[in-house]
Amino acid sequence: MSVGETGSITDLGMPASGGAFDEHHPPDAALVGDCVHCGFCLPTCPTYVLWGEEMDSPRGRIYLMKQGLEGEPMSDEMVSHWDACLGCMSCVTACPSGVQYDRLIEATRAQVERHHERDRADKALRGLVFSLFPYPRRLRVLRGPLRLLQRTGLDRAMRRTGLLDRVSPQLAAMERLAPRLSKPERVPERVPAQGPRRAVVGLLTGCVQGAFFPGVNAATARVLAAEGCDVVTPAGQGCCGALSVHNGREQEGQAFARGIVDTFERAGVDHVVVNAAGCGSTMKEYADLLADDPAYAERARVFASKVRDVAEILDQLGPVAERHPLDLSIAYHDACHLAHAQGVRAQPRRLLTGIPGLELREIADPEICCGSAGIYNIVNPEPARELGDRKAASIVATGAEVLVTANPGCLMQVASAISRSGHPMGMAHTVEVLDASIRGVPADTLRATR
Ligand code: SF4
Ligand code: SF4
Repeated sequence: MSVGETGSITDLGMPASGGAFDEHHPPDAALVGDCVHCGFCLPTCPTYVLWGEEMDSPRGRIYLMKQGLEGEPMSDEMVSHWDACLGCMSCVTACPSGVQYDRLIEATRAQVERHHERDRADKALRGLVFSLFPYPRRLRVLRGPLRLLQRTGLDRAMRRTGLLDRVSPQLAAMERLAPRLSKPERVPERVPAQGPRRAVVGLLTGCVQGAFFPGVNAATARVLAAEGCDVVTPAGQGCCGALSVHNGREQEGQAFARGIVDTFERAGVDHVVVNAAGCGSTMKEYADLLADDPAYAERARVFASKVRDVAEILDQLGPVAERHPLDLSIAYHDACHLAHAQGVRAQPRRLLTGIPGLELREIADPEICCGSAGIYNIVNPEPARELGDRKAASIVATGAEVLVTANPGCLMQVASAISRSGHPMGMAHTVEVLDASIRGVPADTLRATR
């Protein structure tokens, strides 16, 4: 095997004799040692909640890393427990000892991709996902046929036959998750600030966000401009590398990250604004991701310090644009990579409750992941579906008219689960609600189901 699009590598060394990991950034033994086995993280871990198995808890997965560091070879069973982790980072929030499970699982996943031979079907599925999702142009090409399927109702007819489920539950999950596509909305390369300029910001359009939720990017640019930002959206920007990094494809993720650093350096912006939680959390970690690259280490550190989730920057700037009332009840779902990975919980709530007439309702067990988790709901469709159904039940129980969240993966996962629940409701990104309020769009537009 050679370094290629798959991101698989063999030139970084083989695992030490008998051990699971090679010497290229194995899970840090000191971080493993920080776990005092208290178990406080267990009730917040979605896989432990589902199955009650120690090895499918954060503590169990850390124990397996310890075994790997102590000489145990990497086994299929070990990998199955690490693979089953959603990477939701709920355990990081819950841990009183400050165990950095995020760093541990990321290092472990890169080792798994180097040293574990996946079965043919799993490899093919991952090959398909990674030759498609991190490429905005390829995803945009998919829009046409997908829209045609949806408009003719062929997608629903195909679903009723159950044929795809029998051929491949993973491909069936992919088809079910596809959102209802609206008309494409292009974001101009530069949107000038309204009123006195308060900042110059760059906008990451993202892969899935750009192809499947272009309205979210358009709304983000409008809201930022209304709040006094010059918004620069560089054309031809690529993937941020989040999907690759979260799945152990280290070199692929690093290559994408370098491209993003180059693009936004050229744009000359004060901040880089992100409206997809998974992307933002990875971009804030670029300093670590590119630490070994002398040409990029310092540039990545500077870049990472400029990254802001859209809710963070809007909250930081404070509102200047008038908010029109929205007579609406919403349930706000914390995306894991916003709440747990970036600690952004209060800002979106402050922004949303700043809209006159809007009522925000909290969802029970907010720390438990909805099952989206990057590509988890494609490669592990069964537990993802169960988690989605649980989340949908908690959301429906709020009685809210619209579900609001800040990540395209969560929007797709929750929309699909809510539609299964038979209680259809509106879905929106936080910035779409703010945009509707600033522009005086009727609340019914948000109530419309997606
Ligand atoms: S990241 Fe999420 S799924 Fe993985 S061990 Fe932690 S809580 Fe469990
Ligand atoms: S990860 Fe943290 S909360 Fe979980 S068992 Fe270890 S020390 Fe306790």
